[in-house]
Amino acid sequence: MKHTFALLPLATLALLAGCAGQAPLPEGAALNLQGGPTFRVDLRETPLNALDAAARTRLSQDTAVEVTLRSGTALMYRNVAGHIVVDGDMLLGRSEDAAEVLARLDKAPAGSLGTQSLSRFAAGGGNWANRTVPYFWKQGALTATQAAAVNAAVERWNAQAGATLRWVWNPGATHKVEFVVGGGGCGSSYVGAIGGTQPLTIAPNCFNNSTIIHEMGHASGFHHEHQRCDRDNYITVGSAYVGDTTNFGRTCSAYTHGPYDYDSVMNYFPPYIYARSQPVGTYNGSPGNLGKVPDLSRGDLFALQAIYPGGTTPPPTTGRTYTGTLGSGAATVQPGSSGFSYAGGTLKGALTGPAGSDFDLYLQRWSGSAWGTVAQSTSPGHTEAITSAAGAGTYRWYIYSYSGSGAYSLVETK
Ligand SMILES: [Zn+2]
Repeated sequence: MKHTFALLPLATLALLAGCAGQAPLPEGAALNLQGGPTFRVDLRETPLNALDAAARTRLSQDTAVEVTLRSGTALMYRNVAGHIVVDGDMLLGRSEDAAEVLARLDKAPAGSLGTQSLSRFAAGGGNWANRTVPYFWKQGALTATQAAAVNAAVERWNAQAGATLRWVWNPGATHKVEFVVGGGGCGSSYVGAIGGTQPLTIAPNCFNNSTIIHEMGHASGFHHEHQRCDRDNYITVGSAYVGDTTNFGRTCSAYTHGPYDYDSVMNYFPPYIYARSQPVGTYNGSPGNLGKVPDLSRGDLFALQAIYPGGTTPPPTTGRTYTGTLGSGAATVQPGSSGFSYAGGTLKGALTGPAGSDFDLYLQRWSGSAWGTVAQSTSPGHTEAITSAAGAGTYRWYIYSYSGSGAYSLVETK
């Protein structure tokens, strides 16, 4: 729950996407939202095998296609760079195989066609074997800068989630992800493993952590957080995109794990979606973080562990833990009122308060004359997490009990 500081005005939320010096360019920036005519086919009137050659060609080539399956389910997709794309950046198959992909989908039982199941159904794939996603790129396919950005994103992923699902460079693997540079959007990927070599595309101006980790999330098996069946309780779709069910529909047959997570890297961000000012029900993360967290959130990690059970997230290697107790309504600072100096980089804090309590976490920076809040995590629950791209300076953690009392622990990772 949000705590209003009486004496310390809340500074602007300063969670940043991407690296220092790199403009945050989240993936939705590249949604292929241009208009143009939609080619429509109704398989209840004309079965696939009765379509003429011209119509079959349009299924593979037209930018926007809407197919009504025999079950009555409407499937909207775009052909982008040789791939069938749904929901902005998720791939269903190769455009040249459109008729084949549609034929499989047409046989699926009515009501079972969430995008995730669509993707998996079309591909017959799913989880990666041995908790490992082999990846590579062709020599010369990425510039040195682009390669460094992917390496950095993979390092961050593995530091957080490596024990659950690790990305490993392995050009010789049979089933693997190939990083390619492409246009038509900020990024795109299949959902889960489809078998063989599958592309993960990043546009030239989108090589930042947010975009790369978001697409790695898709390739690992994640759907969009903002397309959850219950998303209307937590977010609203921007007015310009409300009618665009191709990219902003709800997916009610996809699996979800835990409450809606504003911190998930699988969210889009304004102006595509906005956090509701009055969310309905329990949620994780902070509404202000929508689309700004350049890492897997705690919720993402739990979801990944649900997809790949049995693994454990490794403890932070460079972290330290602060502990203490707080009464209801009380606050404290760690590691002390004078804080700590920090050379700059990603700064994370993960707070766990007593069960049933509502403890909140703030990251504050010394301006030279006062402490100002630069990041906050104020969910109604007893766990909070902050990931901040922090510049050099003096910082401290501010821990507040909105309700409840007892022991807390705060794990700080630099
Ligand atoms: Zn996406």
